[in-house]
Amino acid sequence: GTERRPGHAARPRLTVVSGPSGVGKSSVLAELRQLGPEVYYSVSVTTRQPRPGEVDGQHYHFVPLEEFKRMVAEGELLEHAEYAGNHYGTPRGPVEQALDQGVPAILEIELQGARQVRSAMPQAQLVMLMPPSWEELVVRLTGRGTEDPAVVARRLEVAKGELAAEEEFDEVVVNSDVRTAARELLTLVVGSHTGA
Ligand code: 5GP
Repeated sequence: GTERRPGHAARPRLTVVSGPSGVGKSSVLAELRQLGPEVYYSVSVTTRQPRPGEVDGQHYHFVPLEEFKRMVAEGELLEHAEYAGNHYGTPRGPVEQALDQGVPAILEIELQGARQVRSAMPQAQLVMLMPPSWEELVVRLTGRGTEDPAVVARRLEVAKGELAAEEEFDEVVVNSDVRTAARELLTLVVGSHTGA
């Protein structure tokens, strides 16, 4: 059930959504937004270049490497990782503020970052989004057409390792259908929890 029992902390849970590039994390999270739960969606900082259509401050905060390094040095990131030649990190402040205000938070990050969150915040819930099959993942990743073949190949290599980490996650959601996956994720994000 979703009832809060007396004596349990009202602080909601942090959910980390991870899974290989091309599995459809962004689409599932966009669909989750449509479902309208009160959730804080973390906006990461990254050193990679914006893709067409990406808006600074909305999809990512696009920062130069120097600024990224400064944030790491000053402890401003909850976790950070290098992925396919670029740096990514989660600003700590907004996530802690959301949780303190009783709002569940979601991070959409890759595996190394998910592991860091697991160590730093053991009460966090780790959800892996899986493709229906490896073949489907290859099709999705190749079909995006926004990156050169070398980048796609590198991401597929990383994806293999990420899929192998399934047992480190609390929950697995298979993305066969975006809407169904978003509903499942919603249940996990706002569903019953016991707090820290
Ligand atoms: P993309 O460049 O395709 O937007 O993201 C590449 C990978 O970086 C994805 O797996 C995405 O989940 C991950 N990512 C995005 N933001 C962060 C972050 O703040 N921290 C970590 N560790 N990974 C991130």
